[in-house]
Amino acid sequence: MFRALTSRQLDPLLKERTGLDEEDRRQRLGVAAVLPFRVNDHVINELIDWDRVPEDPIFQLTFPQPGMLAAPDLARMTGLLRDGAPEQHLRAAANEIRSRLNPHPANQTDLNEPVFQGRRLRGLQHKYRETVLLFPRQGQTCHAYCTYCFRWPQFVGEPDLRIATDDMDSVVAYLRAHPEVTNVLITGGDPLVMSAEVLRRHLEPLLRIPSIEAIRIGTKALAYWPQRFSGDPDADDLLRLFEQVTAAGRHLAVMAHFSHPRELAPRVTRQAISRILATGAVIRCQAPVIRGVNDDAAVWAQLWRETTRLGMIPYYLFIERDTGPQHYFGVPLARAYEIYRDAFAQVPGLARTARGPVASASPGKICIDGIVELAGERVFALRYLQARDPALVGRPFFAQFDADALWVADLKPAFGAVELAPA
Ligand SMILES: *Cc1c(COP(=O)(O)O)cnc(C)c1O
Ligand code: SF4
Repeated sequence: MFRALTSRQLDPLLKERTGLDEEDRRQRLGVAAVLPFRVNDHVINELIDWDRVPEDPIFQLTFPQPGMLAAPDLARMTGLLRDGAPEQHLRAAANEIRSRLNPHPANQTDLNEPVFQGRRLRGLQHKYRETVLLFPRQGQTCHAYCTYCFRWPQFVGEPDLRIATDDMDSVVAYLRAHPEVTNVLITGGDPLVMSAEVLRRHLEPLLRIPSIEAIRIGTKALAYWPQRFSGDPDADDLLRLFEQVTAAGRHLAVMAHFSHPRELAPRVTRQAISRILATGAVIRCQAPVIRGVNDDAAVWAQLWRETTRLGMIPYYLFIERDTGPQHYFGVPLARAYEIYRDAFAQVPGLARTARGPVASASPGKICIDGIVELAGERVFALRYLQARDPALVGRPFFAQFDADALWVADLKPAFGAVELAPA
């Protein structure tokens, strides 16, 4: 049975499972008052190695870490908790801190939400010509939360920070009017927190649109709640729904978020993978590179090798976005490139399908292809894998090398160019 644990149960859990002292636990409670926290029994009992806490990668991935807030913000929150401040003071301080954490990086809502028949279509993002993102209203949470999540504002309950739809009729009308869209990526949160029945209400209408060739479902359920595919009361219904999509001649891709090879180890996860593959769906795997979780080439090499052995396909290695606790989890672009390259070199060709490191920025998805010396200048070689402007896709461009840059907006054009873009 799925059981979520949230910040109310955090202190008792840390007391029971760890040797962390009172002040340390108070700091983690302070962080959990600002940024979302949610785990479940699978994460606690199958994924975290409690003997290695706090350094354990899955503990870093799911539990609040003191360094996630800037020192003054951490001191403010722990001070309020120590003094037993009233709930509304805590909430006000938390809201003020959140507002400074860049809740909507890359102008997602303003730039990507299409306008259709004079109305802004909430819950749909159409950034790249052939692919739309769909955010079902009931799928805006996850089975557990990642500490580094770039969708964190979705989970803290401020309605104007949310993007979601429950209006499939408008979505269908939009897609019929835009036959250039061949791919729909259902995302969240995690759409697989929805029942099979609710997911069906989002999928079936798409199968009646001839121009939709592929449907992707972005999910971390295989890592955080594999019981979704094997054991949950409607797990079989979910798999029948997947079969319905593939039988309708569509490509169905489960875009699985796996951050660490340990997430692949539980028996129930392996069973879930087999059951999904038996429906004719493919599973493609992606995750950002995160300090303290997977900032190690050996971890990625093992992840890609295991992924491939289990019949799944490595897809993207992302760069952590410029939002929330990026200062704590961020890995410099140059280091992310080294990790990618070293891991790539260690795996067989079949596992070299992962592209990266990729930064999903406002103009598009930028891949760091290399670090090179050219015409006496040390530069990053970059390339758009996806771009708002299709003319930019696939062409190389260059930025000045910067060993500390965490994000592409920190980069400066190379060779005297005025803009960071293909010439
Ligand atoms: C990554 C992404 C997609 C999918 O891009 P692919 O290159 O097809 O994997 C679509 N929309 C947005 C906004 C994205 O960030
Ligand atoms: S699974 Fe994805 S959306 Fe959910 S918390 Fe993790 S990163 Fe965020």
